[in-house]
Amino acid sequence: DKTVVLITGCSSGIGLGLAVRLASDTSKAFIVYATMRNLSKKERLLECVRGCHEDTMEILQMDVTDQLSIQAAKQRIKEKKVDILVCNAGAGLMGPVETLSYETMKQIFDINLFGTICTIQAFLPEMKERKSGRIIVTGSVGGLQGIPFNDVYCASKFAVEGFCESLAILLQHFNIHISLIECGPVNTNFMTNLQRTDPEDPRLQHVDPETTQLYQKYLQHCERVFEEAAQDTEEIVQVFMDAIGAQFPSLRYYTNSTFLPLTKLKLTMEDGTQYIKAMNKFVFSTHKTGDF
Ligand code: NAD
Repeated sequence: DKTVVLITGCSSGIGLGLAVRLASDTSKAFIVYATMRNLSKKERLLECVRGCHEDTMEILQMDVTDQLSIQAAKQRIKEKKVDILVCNAGAGLMGPVETLSYETMKQIFDINLFGTICTIQAFLPEMKERKSGRIIVTGSVGGLQGIPFNDVYCASKFAVEGFCESLAILLQHFNIHISLIECGPVNTNFMTNLQRTDPEDPRLQHVDPETTQLYQKYLQHCERVFEEAAQDTEEIVQVFMDAIGAQFPSLRYYTNSTFLPLTKLKLTMEDGTQYIKAMNKFVFSTHKTGDF
């Protein structure tokens, strides 16, 4: 019996990489439903699987913010079940909080939080009925700790953590495992796809000069962190494969050890002061990523 996997956000990045990896697995053990919001972007995925997907992959339209689209994709699953649901679709948002519109903030929560919740809602009843299933969510270091100028993105990813951790407790009773793959920076289109307040953005004129200056510094820091610590999609996909292969998957998998000391600092020094100080130093003073 083949393992049916449904992945959201497969037109690029981690979703695309995972779909290709599973669809071209030599065991042919997986049937992959690679879903994407916009089917006109399917060419890259098709190029990447290059013929080894004839009977292992199908591409479906699915916008995680559209209930009808989620239901329509669900109807098209021939096996009438999903063994592994991968909630990967996501979007970033960066900029001083004063420059972010309500519409944009809501859109980020719609994709990252409600998109994840609604996708899980759609496939959970059938998993519960079968008393079997795996849910894997692409998490982020930004879901575990605050990052300046990523306030709203982090808020949405923190919310995903709260949702998954809460649900995981109930799902113990149904033999369903939920796992978060906590990524640090990854070399994908994420940084070009994200909505960002550019340094020339007119909205910055209404922001105090100190914030604007710190934002410039942050953007440089971000570039440095990507240069020094970003992982390739293949490394992230390998962590997904570890979670998929585990008999008893954990709630969290960390892909990048660079940020673990900061994550631990937050957990062990409960009042939060030390984390804020350390992160301030990390972001706003010259550093080497390896110092942490
Ligand atoms: P990416 O931008 O290449 O991929 C995100 C995918 O989600 C895109 O294919 C996009 O089209 C899709 N998407 C956006 N809105 C959607 C919607 N409404 N419905 C369906 N699909 C939608 O970047 P990525 O790095 O591959 O991102 C994948 C996940 O990884 C995201 O959840 C992101 O938050 C997380 N992540 C990425 C990084 C990073 O540095 N790249 C770091 C931490 C976490």
